[in-house]
Amino acid sequence: MSADKVQAYVFEKQGAELVRKEVDQVPLGANDVEVDITVVSLCHTDLSLGLNDWKVSQYPLVAGHEAVGIVSKVGSEVKSHKVGDRVAIGWMRSSCGTCARCNCGEESQCLTRGGAAGVALIFSGPGAFADSVRVHERFAFSVPESLKSTNVAPLMCAGCTVYSPIANYCSKPGCTVLVIGVGGLGHLAIKLASKYGCNVIAASRGTRKAEQARELGASLYVDSTNEEEMKSIAGKVDVALFCASGGDVKQYFPTLSCGGTFVMLGAPPSDELSEVSLSVVDFIFGSKKFAGSAVAGSVHTNQLLNFCAVNKVGSAGTVLPIAELPKAMKTLHDSPKDAPFRYIFTTDKWNKEKDF
Ligand SMILES: [Zn+2]
Ligand SMILES: [Zn+2]
Repeated sequence: MSADKVQAYVFEKQGAELVRKEVDQVPLGANDVEVDITVVSLCHTDLSLGLNDWKVSQYPLVAGHEAVGIVSKVGSEVKSHKVGDRVAIGWMRSSCGTCARCNCGEESQCLTRGGAAGVALIFSGPGAFADSVRVHERFAFSVPESLKSTNVAPLMCAGCTVYSPIANYCSKPGCTVLVIGVGGLGHLAIKLASKYGCNVIAASRGTRKAEQARELGASLYVDSTNEEEMKSIAGKVDVALFCASGGDVKQYFPTLSCGGTFVMLGAPPSDELSEVSLSVVDFIFGSKKFAGSAVAGSVHTNQLLNFCAVNKVGSAGTVLPIAELPKAMKTLHDSPKDAPFRYIFTTDKWNKEKDF
């Protein structure tokens, strides 16, 4: 039997160029849903897949892992969704569903399929830069009615990635959180942590992002190139979230309070941040922790969507028609400073059903 086909924006080879063409769709398994994409946003890691930054890309490749859409088909065993449901799609396509991590709703850490991170990621078939995606029903997340799809899509990677460490480490009332980098991840970290009840300090190079950071909810902005400003927050930070794509990680360690936690988010492109040295003595006598955090599994993803509905918070970004995606990908590659927090795209399907 020949494979089903789908129209998609494709990286045909390594690079930042996208071509719209027909590709093979993955089979619809008994527990899979097919989702017609209505809104999809562009994350820097989509570009990283195009550039083969992690040496895992196989071309042709269809990226896209922050999306909302409408269920258009369901496999014979699907119980949690029906045709017509609005759902959100992120990084995960499927996982074993039975290991200790999957059972805890931390599927992004699935332990099977050859060790840690055994989860099948969305780009193992056509991702969300296609007219439709097919994923296991467990990874199609119901969207609370009050949320607009254009505010939801970026939550599925950027939002989930920053929400997990906030939920895991910001248990103390009035916890002081340092958000390092005010971009795609950082802007959501500021919004979510401040709504979570944290005192948020934002740090970035220069003063260009200062006003935006305050508008998003930061009580203080620090220019990371200004030694005096950095000294002023020494020992004050309970949780530091490293949301930048590069830079000097170690310069932020002195900001940690006794018992403070420094969290690295996302996978750094290339080898730039792959190794960090730290003073063991500093960390021992300050009871400090150095932690890593990947994109959330199903428990935190569902929590985040409900948290956003209750607190009326969503992503900011620039909304464009999907035909602009190749140009936006090029801008993100050639002049990332000109890119907004997020490029968010609406498809023809969205244009027909604009009521969400
Ligand atoms: Zn598993
Ligand atoms: Zn992403």
